[in-house]
Amino acid sequence: TERIRLTGVSKRYASAGRGPGALALHDIDLSIAAGEIYGLIGRSGAGKSTLLRTINGLETPTSGQVLVDGVDVHALAPRELRELRHGIGMVFQQFNLWGSRTVYGNIATPLKVAGWKDDAIAARVGELIDFVGLGGKAFARPRHLSGGQKQRVGIARAIASRPSILLADEATSALDPQTTVEIVELLRSVNRELGITIVVVTHEMDVVKRIADRVAILSEGAVVESGEIHQVLAHP
Ligand code: ADP
Ligand code: ADP
Repeated sequence: TERIRLTGVSKRYASAGRGPGALALHDIDLSIAAGEIYGLIGRSGAGKSTLLRTINGLETPTSGQVLVDGVDVHALAPRELRELRHGIGMVFQQFNLWGSRTVYGNIATPLKVAGWKDDAIAARVGELIDFVGLGGKAFARPRHLSGGQKQRVGIARAIASRPSILLADEATSALDPQTTVEIVELLRSVNRELGITIVVVTHEMDVVKRIADRVAILSEGAVVESGEIHQVLAHP
């Protein structure tokens, strides 16, 4: 089944001064199946991050349509959009953890906001801490964690409310090569064991080769090539 579908999506940012703003996306068509890991690759400024953010409604396309599980994301009322976002986790290059909160607090907070009861939160957070390999670190604060450990917290937080989609925006770009491999492996487990569809945005070719089933190459806001990873990357 199709989990994410973009049809004719264009995005022009508002102008900062005189003249038109940046055309970040140009007529994007993309289809992402349930259960796959889909890679979006391209240079800095190609539009990867903007594309990713149209999927969870953080950016509104200037034209075109984004469907998530058949639902038109940009036709939703604010309350429905918030609900849709509970089904879409996101991880970031700079982790975006709350520095004053413990590992436990970082993972628990979104569940609390979503209205989970404390005992259900405690059980779920304990399970997640084990799943991401942070056993014994529940009371640690982010400043005492390595980059890889911080991203493990970021991933646990992103999947806490059992989303069907995980969006990863340069999730390994701040990590050294060995840690990158470990986080890629963790994302693969998230996909395989939890059945979560993952969209991976990266400028790192090694990462996309190791993780993605299919890829789209973005350049200046347009998809210049897409398909099975071995086919796309076989071309010069
Ligand atoms: P990538 O993730 O591939 O680096 P982005 O989606 O961040 O690309 O950026 C695509 C284009 O849109 C770039 O020209 C960038 O400068 C521009 N852009 C990104 N975010 C904004 C914004 N909030 N306001 C205006 N222009 C933006
Ligand atoms: P803050 O300092 O902002 O309260 P914390 O990360 O310390 O953030 O804790 C967030 C919430 O989770 C608090 O309500 C705290 O009591 C609770 N909490 C923190 N660690 C645990 C734990 N290991 N088991 C159960 N509850 C915890």
